[in-house]
Formats: sequence, structure tokens, C-alpha cells
Amino acid sequence: MAKGLHEHQLRHQGLNRFGKDLTRRAGSCCELCENSGVKLSIHEVPPVPQEPDYDHCAFLCERCIEQLEYPKRRDPDYWHFLSKTVWHEVPAIQVLSVWMCRQLADQVPWAAELLEQLYLNPEVEEWLDRLEKS
Ligand SMILES: [Zn+2]
Repeated sequence: MAKGLHEHQLRHQGLNRFGKDLTRRAGSCCELCENSGVKLSIHEVPPVPQEPDYDHCAFLCERCIEQLEYPKRRDPDYWHFLSKTVWHEVPAIQVLSVWMCRQLADQVPWAAELLEQLYLNPEVEEWLDRLEKS
């Protein structure tokens, strides 16, 4: 137990190193919904690497994180901003967006249409494969 907690704290410290760079990258807004003036937290995009990796981090508001983590709390209407973020220049954000879009595609036509228009580079495609298997 104690060991697990220690490891958790170490990981937390490892991730916190990225806080400053992430704040800059995100422009102090949630990297998905672009809300500002809200508390932002680091969300690691799976598959989570053994060592904390800046490129796997997304800086997100609590509402986005909650809906990513708890499928039952998802509100498809909330996610219209995906039409922009599926093209995001940061691979971690693009991967998260496309993944979420795929989750919603069965429920809402706009998500399915968005996926049809999408072109993904091979690295992003490969990351998505790994995410779906993780
Ligand atoms: Zn958000």
C-alpha cells in the first residue's frame, strides 16, 4: 500500500514538472473545450508511458476529464468543439478528440460525419490503435 502511494506521489511530481509548459501550450484554456478561468489538470492520454511524458499530457478542465473518464456522464451536445480539435496540432489532443468522436459516432450523426472528413497521419492512427487496445 505505502509503496503504491509513494509511486503515485512520484508520478504526480513528475507530471507537475510539465505544468508550466502545459499552461503555456494551452494558453491557460482547456485544450479541448477552450474554457478559460477554470481549474485545469493534467490528463495523461493512454497508453500511459512508464515515465511521465510531456507529449502524452493534455491540460484539461474538470468537466472534460470527467466525461472522458466516465462514459455514463457523457453529454454528446457538450462535445461540438470536437469539430475543431480533431485537427489539433498537438498529437495528444488530436488523439483524444478523435477517440471521443469515435465514442460518440454511434449516438450523434455529426460525430460520424466528422470522422468521415478526417485525415489522420500514420503516427496518430497508430496511437489511436494502441489507445483502443489499452
Ligand atoms: Zn474542457
